[in-house]
Amino acid sequence: MMSTTDRLTATGLNKHSKFWQNAHLYFDRVYQTMNLDPTWRAVLATPKRVVTVSCPIKMDDGKLQVFTGYRVQHNNARGPFKGGLRYDPAVNQDEVMALAMLQTWKNALVDLPYGGAKGGIVCDPRKLSMGEKERLTRRFTSEIMPVIGPQHDIPAPDAGTDAQIMAWVLDTYSVMVGYQALGVVTGKPVTLGGSVGREEATGRGLMNILRKFLATQNKSLTDVRIAVQGFGNVGFHAARLLAERGATIVGISERVSGLYHEGGLDIDAVGVYYRENGTLTDFPNADAMSNEELLACDCDVLVPAAMENTLTEEVAPHVKARIVCEGANGPTTPEADEILRDNGITVLPDILANAGGVTVSYFEWVQGLENYFWDKKRVQDELQRVMEKAFDEVNAKADSADCDYRTAAYAIAIGRVAEASRLKGLYP
Ligand code: NAD
Repeated sequence: MMSTTDRLTATGLNKHSKFWQNAHLYFDRVYQTMNLDPTWRAVLATPKRVVTVSCPIKMDDGKLQVFTGYRVQHNNARGPFKGGLRYDPAVNQDEVMALAMLQTWKNALVDLPYGGAKGGIVCDPRKLSMGEKERLTRRFTSEIMPVIGPQHDIPAPDAGTDAQIMAWVLDTYSVMVGYQALGVVTGKPVTLGGSVGREEATGRGLMNILRKFLATQNKSLTDVRIAVQGFGNVGFHAARLLAERGATIVGISERVSGLYHEGGLDIDAVGVYYRENGTLTDFPNADAMSNEELLACDCDVLVPAAMENTLTEEVAPHVKARIVCEGANGPTTPEADEILRDNGITVLPDILANAGGVTVSYFEWVQGLENYFWDKKRVQDELQRVMEKAFDEVNAKADSADCDYRTAAYAIAIGRVAEASRLKGLYP
């Protein structure tokens, strides 16, 4: 049988066009079953605006370099556009379009008053100095200035970006409009109007969802052995919070290295080691493991929390976990999704499992607009409430429609966006 990669090469598609196609496949598969007006399909499946900008900056050696950036606004039927900003050498328009579409469904699924967007700059943040990163972020912000704003489009951190980058976006935008526009960006440092609990929010939301799902099986986190792919914002905090509640984290991996320990890894110690060394290689008292081995390792729950398209049809038949809880956006290809389902593996889909980040981003936006800031307990309690409500709705839909969780989540999300679009009607 021809592998995905061979087929893509044969059809001239690269991995990123494939991601955009996958986003459509997941959407179409559910849309067709919903008895919705077929003429709205194109509206919901097409980004409303795709902005490409060129960002020339002076590098530390005095030379000029031009970086390409994107902001894709997929749909705003339910409110302002909202979605992360990614810095990665592989960023491209198709990838950002796919991520923006996923964001529309995610925001609707957890019932936030937002549409979906995504942005990115083609760069390797690990190879840029702080000064270069700051100049690039400020230039990019000024280039997309006409399409962002607290009531228009609100960026946030994603892979390769963090609170410091959001602080530069805030400052650049605020300087240009002449006042401190707290609502223009979320994931800011707490001292600059960020929300407590935002940094760990995606991992915490994932923990809430997995715990809720296990309860439906009369199990708890103490009963499961978990492997986590990706040790960045999402992977680290998810692993830490799951371990704090008694789960055994048997495996962890990042771009080039990984670890396995049957008895459980000390996540805080691994975190300190990773921050100090930039790799997991040679971490004491654990076995080295490759990324590929991690996906197929002996565990109960697999948490892909790195990048898209990591669980492919080649890998899926070897997955031993009985539950896949998606921390990353789009980690499972549709072909792999089918294989996992046929093998009786439950997939807790990205638009549900990793929605904790955007949920606390919403809390941050609300706090910024009101200039009234919540304490950590309120953020955590409200996050848990939103995540558990979303899980209950998806679980009930999966039961009533006798379908998998991804189909149920998409049906709820698409239904909400379609309803908002229908009620608003068309202009002119
Ligand atoms: P990050 O940049 O903080 O970390 C990414 C991690 O993945 C790093 O440890 C990196 O080494 C690892 N990685 C990269 N490529 C890999 C590969 N091919 N195999 C294995 N590991 C690899 O990014 P993040 O913010 O943790 O985001 C990770 C994923 O979660 C992305 O898909 C992102 O879109 C999604 N996400 C992030 C947030 C958020 O709040 N940051 C929210 C929702 C979803």
